[in-house]
Amino acid sequence: MRLEGRVALVTGGGRGIGRATCLALAREGADVAVCDIDLASAESVAKEVEALGRKALAIRADVSQKADVTAMVARVTEAFGKIDILVNNAGVIRDAMLHKMTEEAFDQVIAVHLKGAWLCCQAVMEGMRERRFGKIINLSSLSGKVGNIGQTNYSAAKAGIVGLTKAVAKELARYNINVNAIQPGFIDTDMTRSIPEEIRLAKIAEIPLQRVGRPEDIANVVVFLASEDSSYMTGAVLEVNGGRGM
Ligand code: NAP
Repeated sequence: MRLEGRVALVTGGGRGIGRATCLALAREGADVAVCDIDLASAESVAKEVEALGRKALAIRADVSQKADVTAMVARVTEAFGKIDILVNNAGVIRDAMLHKMTEEAFDQVIAVHLKGAWLCCQAVMEGMRERRFGKIINLSSLSGKVGNIGQTNYSAAKAGIVGLTKAVAKELARYNINVNAIQPGFIDTDMTRSIPEEIRLAKIAEIPLQRVGRPEDIANVVVFLASEDSSYMTGAVLEVNGGRGM
């Protein structure tokens, strides 16, 4: 129970890595606000959190919209009194080769991943600064380190999250707020199941540990970064990818 008494807010918590993260945080004792653009999936995960004996709150919010983010943080703070842990996990993919990618697909991916993470950091920081405690964990991607064909939008957003993480880490370190990023490799979720089968198999063949990642493989590292076990880490980027891209 490394997170007893803590309150976590997880964006994109309705499925995949976000859902596994909500449950892993709850198992360690945290109460969890589950945010998703789809309220029904947030509610279903909130029920799973409650079944683990923790308090939960389901919130519909689009992280790319400042008004939604402001209202979400106000609701969580009203319900739980504080936010100790923010996990910026919400994401979408809109893959296409550069010559075919629309401006709208570029803007949407940057807005959800990069602007969304920035808006959420900005919205939670005041409370964390006042209480001189906070853990912010941003989901980047291996694509942000090595770039991916068909993902100029996503790779740029995920590399941007690395810069965002380091800049926010430097600004907030003096307030005892740790800000770190995770770069998952290929994890088995709806997001990667939507990739064409031959590309999926080619990516899996590149993994030295010879298996696709599970959402729990990422959730366990989120718990580590949310806990006091990582209290001397900030601005770090942890690669969790089975050795792919090393
Ligand atoms: P996923 O299964 O597609 O889940 C993403 C969640 O985010 C969904 O519940 C989605 O809701 C929600 N979401 C989308 N847009 C949102 C918005 N504007 N506001 C709030 N919530 C929103 O994806 P995942 O594979 O678990 O990925 C989670 C994070 O890890 C993402 O940031 C992703 O880029 C990153 N990541 C994943 C992998 C991987 O291999 N899976 C690898 C590297 C990094 P709806 O689906 O209902 O719209």
